Amino acid sequence: MKDLYSFHADEDSLNEYYERSKKAYFKVFNRMGLDAKLVEASGGIFSKYSHEFQVITPVGEDTIYHCDSPAGECDFAQNKEIATVKEGDKCPKCGGEIKTDRGIEVGNIFPLKNKYTAPMKAAFLDKDGKEKDFVMGCYGIGLTRSMATVVEVYYDSTKNRMVWPEEIAPYKVHLLSLNKNNEAQKLYDKLIKDSVEVLFDDRDMSAGEKFAEADLVGCPVRIIVSEKSLKAGGAEVTDVKSGKVSLESLDNIKL
Ligand SMILES: [Zn+2]
Repeated sequence: MKDLYSFHADEDSLNEYYERSKKAYFKVFNRMGLDAKLVEASGGIFSKYSHEFQVITPVGEDTIYHCDSPAGECDFAQNKEIATVKEGDKCPKCGGEIKTDRGIEVGNIFPLKNKYTAPMKAAFLDKDGKEKDFVMGCYGIGLTRSMATVVEVYYDSTKNRMVWPEEIAPYKVHLLSLNKNNEAQKLYDKLIKDSVEVLFDDRDMSAGEKFAEADLVGCPVRIIVSEKSLKAGGAEVTDVKSGKVSLESLDNIKL
């Protein structure tokens, strides 16, 4: 879990920061390639309510009721545990239709207020010299859950293949050297020098085994250097997500 706690002099300051962290979390999930939905939920033992970042997927463990308006127009969404609506109801915000989906919770934020600061006497003297409890917020991202959710969303079971979004890929490039050749080693050295993240497979294995493993590792760009590619003039560069393949000369590979 990635945790963050904030301490404020009053609720206005908490609310302002709460909204800022919501935006920051949406940015983080976007960069991970996850389309997260902000869902109202119970605060459990921590607070009256909370907001969960849920990624809609059929394997999700939570049931979400959300407005079916076209993307972005209405953001009404509630976790079933506190829902005031059900499937087919009218959206209380815009009158659209309420739909049910399954979701995986990848993050959550809570306005804790003085839930902990009051009993723990975490207080400060305000500008009038009065003692006040700090007003608290807490914010979390489930890192391992997020990773698992990315796999859930990006793994293609029909092709037995994973493609990581580039921002969080373990390596940008998977370089495969087939039938060991010095050119692949030279290309590896050059890419490293250019600060490209490269996973280099120069093991003594069959091409088929290397391809099958590369499919599962899921780096966004695959470069193959083989006798065949060298004869044709360089390396075979594949943008794994689109499947676009191009032959590029070894000193002029564009990434
Ligand atoms: Zn709505």
